[in-house]
Amino acid sequence: MPAELIGIDEARAAVLAAARPLAPEPVALGAALGRVLAEEVASDGDLPPFDSSAMDGFAVVAATEPAELDVVAESRAGAPAGHSVVPGEAVRISTGGVMPPGADAVVPVERVTVADSRVSVPAVAAGANVRRAGEDVRAGDVVLRPGTDLGPAEVAMLASLGRVEVLCGAAPRVAIVVTGDELAEPGTALGPGRIYDSNGAALTALAARAGAAVASCVRAPDDRDATRAALADALTRADVVCVSGGVSVGPHDHVKPALAELGVEERFWGVALKPGKPTWFGAGPGGAPLVFGLPGNPVSAMVTFHLFARPALRVLAGGDPSDTRVRARLDAPVERSPRREQAVRCRLHVRDDGWHVDPTGPQGSHRLSSMLGTGALALIERGEGELAAGELVHAELLPRGTVSA
Ligand code: AMP
Ligand code: MG
Repeated sequence: MPAELIGIDEARAAVLAAARPLAPEPVALGAALGRVLAEEVASDGDLPPFDSSAMDGFAVVAATEPAELDVVAESRAGAPAGHSVVPGEAVRISTGGVMPPGADAVVPVERVTVADSRVSVPAVAAGANVRRAGEDVRAGDVVLRPGTDLGPAEVAMLASLGRVEVLCGAAPRVAIVVTGDELAEPGTALGPGRIYDSNGAALTALAARAGAAVASCVRAPDDRDATRAALADALTRADVVCVSGGVSVGPHDHVKPALAELGVEERFWGVALKPGKPTWFGAGPGGAPLVFGLPGNPVSAMVTFHLFARPALRVLAGGDPSDTRVRARLDAPVERSPRREQAVRCRLHVRDDGWHVDPTGPQGSHRLSSMLGTGALALIERGEGELAAGELVHAELLPRGTVSA
């Protein structure tokens, strides 16, 4: 590890410089939630497509005096009247019903009196309770641009345009390798000195939240050949490989030499970050796949995934890698570290003056409980002494809603 370590921003910049969007692919609308749009979507026609009523009532010709009119037809949603309206006539109309030719206003049913086939209406201005064709979207308007995250509203808009398929950035494939002789599969008995593997579950969940497709998640013992075999397989399956543990320089850390043997070139090693100092990043021959060697400590693995691997996955998917960065006010003092930036796990609150971040408690990198309830990582710059409560800091929101592909 170099004596002078790079900071979070420099490490992120190295990751972003190595990440390129994957080729887009057509995606069925029903599977598009959580994907990133890769085309410009313009509307073929007007939305709404025709003038229609905004109320249940009577379509009439606007008039300055109350009147008693003949009800000559009905226009229901989906069943136009097939009849035009002249002064002295009215067409009964439902919300969403096509305005009959000649009518230019709708009197709501609550404001009329109906007797037999006659209706008494008050004075009504032209345009009252009428939705105009194209009022929402005009034919030819661009409604969605490439790079847009497809949430429920975007999916609804695409459906209202009649789309059944859209071009999206490919969901990056992630292969996960967790290393460590001490790791046991949850559900099995723990032998002496063993712990359950939590990084496999954490990285799988984080990758899914980042919009990636998890291609594989395997455990490798602290053995050079086994580590190399697991990594060689991961490199063939994925656009991004995440390895946890075994990345340091101890006698049982085999990840770096194995990656070197497999032709993965180091881009950085070590970040001045707490937790997450022993983080390694490299790229395979020709620049792909991207490989993240994440620290084994459970909190460090999660924090470094969020700070470095997630931005790469967002770029590969065609999205915005900085969509989680906000400014927030610190609710409790934090002791600065002279040599390392810190990613402090915080609960997130919105108060009258905006986002607030409140540290979750003891912050050891092995304390997975410090991640519970964490809505954001407060990024504390290097320095001396305490950063006081009330100071504004950069914070990274931990996304809650993204769906896996
Ligand atoms: P390492 O980076 O391999 O030196 O591991 C650092 C610490 O993280 C050790 O205490 C490991 O037992 C722990 N650790 C490594 N991998 C995992 C994992 N998959 N799940 C839970 N703890 C882990
Ligand atoms: Mg280990």
